[in-house]
Parts: sequence; structure tokens; C-alpha cells
Amino acid sequence: MADIIRLLPDNVANQIAAGEVVQRPASVVKELLENSVDADASEVHLVVNESGKTLIQVSDNGKGMSETDARMALERHATSKIQKAEDIFSILTKGFRGEALASIAAVAKLQMRTRLRGSELGTELKVAANEIESQEFCQCPEGTTIKVQNLFYNIPARRNFLKSNQVELRHIIDEFERVAMAHPEVAFRFEHNNSELFHLEPSTLRQRIVNIFGKRYNEKLVPVSEDTELIKLEGFVGKPEFAKKSRGEQFFFVNHRYIRNPYLHKAVQKAFEGLLQDDSHPSYFLFMELDPARIDVNIHPTKTEIKFEDERVIHSIIRTAVKHSLGQYNIAPSLDFEHDQQYAPPPPTHKSVEAPGIYIDPNFNPFHKEAEKPAVSGSNTSRPSSGSSSFGGSGYSNPRPTSRESHQWESLLSQIPEIPDEAEQSQLIPEEGLNKVAYIQVGRKYLLKAHGEGLMLIHQARAHQRIIFEKMMASLANQQVAAQQLLFPVQVTFSAGDFSQIKELLPTLREMGFDLDEFGQKELIVHGIPLFLENPDLDQILHQLLEEAKDYNSHSKEELQEKMAAEMAKVAALKVGTVLEPQAMAHLVDELFGCSSPYISPEGRPTIINLALNDLDKTFT
Ligand code: ADP
Ligand code: MG
Repeated sequence: MADIIRLLPDNVANQIAAGEVVQRPASVVKELLENSVDADASEVHLVVNESGKTLIQVSDNGKGMSETDARMALERHATSKIQKAEDIFSILTKGFRGEALASIAAVAKLQMRTRLRGSELGTELKVAANEIESQEFCQCPEGTTIKVQNLFYNIPARRNFLKSNQVELRHIIDEFERVAMAHPEVAFRFEHNNSELFHLEPSTLRQRIVNIFGKRYNEKLVPVSEDTELIKLEGFVGKPEFAKKSRGEQFFFVNHRYIRNPYLHKAVQKAFEGLLQDDSHPSYFLFMELDPARIDVNIHPTKTEIKFEDERVIHSIIRTAVKHSLGQYNIAPSLDFEHDQQYAPPPPTHKSVEAPGIYIDPNFNPFHKEAEKPAVSGSNTSRPSSGSSSFGGSGYSNPRPTSRESHQWESLLSQIPEIPDEAEQSQLIPEEGLNKVAYIQVGRKYLLKAHGEGLMLIHQARAHQRIIFEKMMASLANQQVAAQQLLFPVQVTFSAGDFSQIKELLPTLREMGFDLDEFGQKELIVHGIPLFLENPDLDQILHQLLEEAKDYNSHSKEELQEKMAAEMAKVAALKVGTVLEPQAMAHLVDELFGCSSPYISPEGRPTIINLALNDLDKTFT
């Protein structure tokens, strides 16, 4: 039989390699930006059109390439960054595999202009499908400009696989942000479709983060710093109260390379344990520096996964350092040397600090207890949910508790901080008020009611969310969302990345009762808001709504509206910690039971829990 194995031609091999290195326009952006940083550039300029589908161009003032190097750079496995395999373990550059330019040239039209520092003339190269079409001398500034056009023009399947411009742009912005954050000492500019998205001057890391993610970040960051023999850790974590629902800003960098690492992510999560609400995620920007010999960056062509020799030790260093920083920020507000005033203790999580209500009957006379008993049991029997009747039905052989015992029990459950003496206890709830005080607020969080079959507990915040949510959805369905005009319009600023996304959301936001417009490059101006949002922190709520919508592409418009309504309900609803008057409690519960799905919150969590008698019995065994 004839031999059938052949070596693949270079252009085919390169195209196959490109499958791994160049998955989308953002991959090209990443590789080109990293090459510029590796070439010691102090200024890098990215120009993108149509989310990279038609043009990606990166110019730098780095060291440039000689005429021969410019040609060599396009060969696969051609690199100036390593010479032998061991070099990988002392690598401090981003690249070393020598396949990015070859891969890009295999799937796009590529043009390069480069001039070595100190050289008179530069070189211009034009390449299509890995074939050099021309190379000539040219006048150009020192440094390198690489222009990539018509990405995937020769691989229709890949081209069709690309997502909407919106999504592809988001990926590009992500890559840009990662490189820019890893190198705050380098100036970066980024233009998309002729408008400037980022203009970052050389700065400190903190300023870079703020310049990328917006002014609001300045007050959100807590510095982290730890220097051990194994690893030097620097950076910031976000204060717990600013934690987001989406895993937005979570960055690890190792030797100035952005990496993902689920195991180390857990270390940060552990440090935040107990400080975050269930569904929110911490932000972090953590930079590790360690001996490159102790890591392996060559596990994957995109090099965002790396292997650490001492992963467990690093895990515990990160956890301890972050915990320490969070502790310092809470306990010792003035420890930050640069930004003292920003480390005020976090605001209280509840709206009101009033003491829980205690209802005292001024006419009550403790010396007439015996005489009053009949009246009390009378009122008890008329209450379907009285404590005594539920005990009575339990099958206990114990005698029915007297009304006073049930009062003690109720008052205990309401967690009144000072324990009253016996005489006062009997006054906590006036006898004739028992009919009205149907609910007891527990821990400023739950409403409790006893009924014949056990206990009902209502989560007050979630219940209110459900009510607002259903009202919102109903008015959306009727296209009758009530709005209120603001006396003074409010400006809200976004990061460039976020702004490109919130613009897409404007029609939906308007349907939901917001009256807002674009204002400049990165701002919205809000003139009106949905009626039920009272004094909202618009900056916060619009950013939160954006977070909700970030995976917009996978949702229908209705689903998006639902998610956003749920989010708004959350902002507008009563908070845990709000003290409620008896009438307010009764009203809330009435409204809850008027909802079509009273038992779950808009986010799908329980609003009502019933503890049956046998559940109670079990807890008493
Ligand atoms: P790698 O970065 O892994 O070495 P690339 O294919 O990305 O591989 O680049 C090949 C080579 O081309 C690099 O090693 C470098 O010498 C050169 N090069 C690429 N981009 C630039 C640039 N912007 N400035 C100077 N040299 C560059
Ligand atoms: Mg490279």
C-alpha cells in the first residue's frame, strides 16, 4: 500500500494553530497588545472598527524590528523571546511561543510597518493567507504598527461563528483592560469606530483601575499587600458593600500576565466569607510576582491558565492577606496613607435604627391579672391563629398554656434586646390588642404568625420584592408604567466598556419608566424615574441593572424585562432591618397574598415558610 502520511503545508498548519490562538477579534487584540508591551513600548494605540471584524490596528513606540526580523516574525515558532526550552521557566515576557503573528496572518490580511529604534528607514510588509505579497522600505516612526483586516475572510465558518458586534466589542474591551491593568506604566489609547473609548496615561495601579472602571472605584478599593519569600502580592479588593451580583471585576495577574484560576478565586471568596450577601461576588485586582521557575505558563496557547508549584501555599497567603486588609479597613479606618477619608466605616445595612416597637397598655393593672383571665381566653379563641390553640392541637398532655405563658413566648421570639422583668413581660402586648397584633417582627427581618397548624414566617424584604415585582410586570404588560420627573436631572458616569452596553439598554430602560438620554461619551442624564423608586441611588441602580443585563444576548426581551424588574424590586423594597408597625405588617402580608406567586421572591427564593407542628415538635426533642 502506498504511503499516505504527508507533512502539512505551512499555511494549513498555521491555520490549524490559529484555531487555538485566534478565536475571535479579541484574541488578535490581546496578542498584538502583548507584543507591543513585550517590545518595551511606553505608548500603545489600538484602533478597531466594527468590533474588529473589519480592522484591528495596534501601533507602538517599542523597539521595532529589522528588515529580516519583520519577515521572520511571521513564521510559525519564530520568536525573539526564548532560545531553548528551559527559557520558558525564566520568562517574563507575554509571548514566547512564536505563533501569534503566524496564526493571525493565516486567517486575515496583515500589514506591518516597523522601524528599529535608531534606524533611518522602516520596513513595510503586506501578507495575505501567510504569503508575503510585498516588502519594501518605508518612512515610518520608530516602533511597530500592525494592521489586521478582514479577519477570517478565508474561514467562513469562523466568521459566521462570531457573535454580535456588541459581544465581540465587549471581549475586546476585556482583553484591552487586562493588558492595560497589567501595565499601568504604559500609556494606552483605544479608538472604536472613530470614537475614543479609553485614553490612559501612565499612572499608579490605583489610578489605572479608576481610569478604566470609573471614578466610583476610588472609594471602593481596599489595598492588599503582602511580601513573602515565595510571592509578592499587591493590589486591591473591592469593599464588601460594593460587591456585585455578576462576577465583574475579578483579576489575577501573575508576573504581569492576566490569569484565571478557580482555586485561587476560592481563596479570595473565603476571605470574604460572612461579609457578602449570598448572591454577590467580591471584586479583586490582585498582582502576584514570583520566580517564573515556580510556575508553568505553557499549559495552553492563550496562556491564561498557569500551573503553580506551590498552589496551596499561595492560596493561603492570598486568603490571609485579603482577610487582613478587609479587617484593617473595617477596624482601623485611617490605615490607608493615600486616601484616609475614603475609609470611613461602611454605612449601616439597614435603613432605620429605631428600637423595636413595644406596645404597652397604659390601663393595664398587673394586680388584676386573675380577674382578667376569662376575657383573655375569650379573645384567644376568637383568633384563628392564637398561640394557645396551636399548642392545644399538638396532642401534648400538658395543660394548655395560660395566656401569660403565650405572651412570654411571643415576646421571646420578637427578640427584644432588654429582658424585661416578670411584671413588665405581662404588659408587652396589651390583652385587648391581641386581635390587632397578628404579626410579630423577628430580628427586623421576618414576620411571624402562629396559626392552628403551626407557625408561618414571612421574609419581609422578599415579600415586598414580590409585591413590587408583580405590580411592575402588570404595568409593563399594560404599557402604563408610572414615572416621576426629577426636580434636578442626575448624571451617571460609566466606564467605557459599560457605556457601550448601557446604550443598548436605553429602550428597555425607557419602557420601564426611566426618562434618560446619552450625555457625552460616557454619561447618561436621567430626567425621570419609575414612580415606586423613592430617592434611589441612580448611580447604583443603573449599574446594577446593567450587571443584570450583561448576558442580554442569551435572553429574550421579556426575560430581560423580568430580570430588570426583579432587580428594581430589590432596590425599591423594604430592607432587612426596617422596623415595621403592626398595620404595615398586616398590609404587607395582605398584598403578598394578593400576588399570583406569593411563595417565592422574584429571584426564586422562598418568601414564606410554614413550620408545621411536627417540625416544632422535632426541634423540642
Ligand atoms: P511571540 O510573541 O510568542 O514571540 P509572535 O508571533 O507574537 O510570537 O511574535 C513573533 C516575534 O515578532 C516576537 O518574538 C518579536 O520578536 C516580534 N514582534 C512581534 N510584535 C512586535 C512588536 N510590536 N514590536 C517588536 N517586535 C515584535
Ligand atoms: Mg506574541
